[in-house]
Amino acid sequence: MITNERLKNLVKQLDLIPQERLEAAFSFAEKNNKPLAGVLVESDLISDDHLGQIIADELGYEFIDLDKVTIDDEVLNLVPKVMAKAQKVITFGRDQKGIKLAMVNPGNLTIIHLLEKKTGQPIIPYLTTRENITNALARYQKGIQKEFAEIIQENISQAKKGLRAEDLPIIKIVDTIIEYAYENKASDIHLEPRDEKTMIRFRIDGILHDIIDLPKVVHDLMITRLKIMAKLRTDEHRSAQDGKIRFKIEEENLDIRVSIVPIVEGEKVVLRLLSERSRQFSLEDLGVSSEDLVKLKKEYSKPYGMILATGPTGSGKTTSLYAIIKILNRREVNISTIEDPVEYDIEGVNQIQVDPKTNLTFAAGLRSILRQDPNIIMVGEIRDQETADIAINSAMTGHLVLSTLHTNDAPTALPRFLEMNIEPFLIASTVNIIIAQRLVRKICSQCIVSEQVSLEQLKNKFESATVEKYFDPSKKEVRIYHGKGCPVCGQTGYAGRIGVFEVLVITEPVRELIMKRANADQIRQQAVKEGMKTMIEDGIRKVLAGVTTIEEVLRATRE
Ligand SMILES: [Zn+2]
Repeated sequence: MITNERLKNLVKQLDLIPQERLEAAFSFAEKNNKPLAGVLVESDLISDDHLGQIIADELGYEFIDLDKVTIDDEVLNLVPKVMAKAQKVITFGRDQKGIKLAMVNPGNLTIIHLLEKKTGQPIIPYLTTRENITNALARYQKGIQKEFAEIIQENISQAKKGLRAEDLPIIKIVDTIIEYAYENKASDIHLEPRDEKTMIRFRIDGILHDIIDLPKVVHDLMITRLKIMAKLRTDEHRSAQDGKIRFKIEEENLDIRVSIVPIVEGEKVVLRLLSERSRQFSLEDLGVSSEDLVKLKKEYSKPYGMILATGPTGSGKTTSLYAIIKILNRREVNISTIEDPVEYDIEGVNQIQVDPKTNLTFAAGLRSILRQDPNIIMVGEIRDQETADIAINSAMTGHLVLSTLHTNDAPTALPRFLEMNIEPFLIASTVNIIIAQRLVRKICSQCIVSEQVSLEQLKNKFESATVEKYFDPSKKEVRIYHGKGCPVCGQTGYAGRIGVFEVLVITEPVRELIMKRANADQIRQQAVKEGMKTMIEDGIRKVLAGVTTIEEVLRATRE
């Protein structure tokens, strides 16, 4: 692969990125032992495809954008999915000269030789990007989809033949539904009994989709099977039950939270899938820019103080705190959490779940954690004065405290503490940094198209004030992107989600404002003056990089 130094000089020659930002990205990459290419793409300084093209030219390989080619199933399956994933390669074409292999690292001769041996044909390496490979891996999914339909079909025809319910392949059906949901990156599975049938729905990227309906006879069997898997009472049908399943798919452990609620038509089940895949997310993956990463790193490296994440429910704020905990999770530090609910099990971290039945509140849990000599504490949410008091006290006495607040933006978190009757000097001396965030849908990479539009056109479509405020007026035109809609994204033009962030560092001037009981607007003005990018600004940056659309950013930030 190309070295950071060589890539930096290359990008510098082409003059694609402002010099100082390139240097900043380079030193960040060097310091953190990361590939510069990844840092440049993640901080939206250049698109993945564009950079791939540049590197390919430099290394003398042809660049292939897999998003733009159709791949024959037979060719794709020359390399099994697990291997494609591990080696970051995709076979995408075949002709008289040989088999075309897209590779993140075309210098990987081991894999080239292996495939030449296996296929008996020459392998022609092409350069591609990681993102391209990740997207292309989705094309393997078809196999499972076929199996899913077949099993369900088999089940229905058996039911029609009047087979006894006990003879239905119920274990296989339940497993297949879970696997299918996982492959489609669903976050939840709903099993909803209706009058005549039962409906199976998946939540993907925050939206519920009807997937298939099954005969009613299958429903009760599925419920029983799930209760057994979650070690719940199978003879209980009239009250709500909660449980957990650990399910193994490929090499991964999938934690599933099971919630069963009786409704008029029967028992309704919601399964929440908590995969290690989604747990692996780093702050970069979540969409934090390299600029904000530097600020965050400085603050979470401090041994005490408070880090807050704010946003409405479903804005991904807890996921951001998990990403930080993952970085801090080393054997020599003691990390404890009190959560409602515990969303992911993190190895090596003591996690306590709030339980109103036993009076285990955030405040009570926090007190019991403090008796166990922790270094780092995560409090799921600060909702009341009692919790705020203990959390602030802990941050004052040598603990690093991470928590969330239900406010719309970062500056508002500070007056929120005042409303909870916390003394200004306590807030000023404990809070280190505040992250605010929203989730926006990402443009589907399979059907993305771009268009050049003038700022005037944008003003016709959106509020003029917004356009004037967030787009550089010296540029008459900008290039923006959207998804046309395709089978991969279910014709929506979007696939996956990413965060837009604002990161407020509590600097000396901000501290003084807190002491003066300043309001959120005054704090925001000061923070922006010191270089804080607001969520909309971060969003517009992602719009110009082809990650999302203006519509999404406005929708999400106005929620
Ligand atoms: Zn699409």
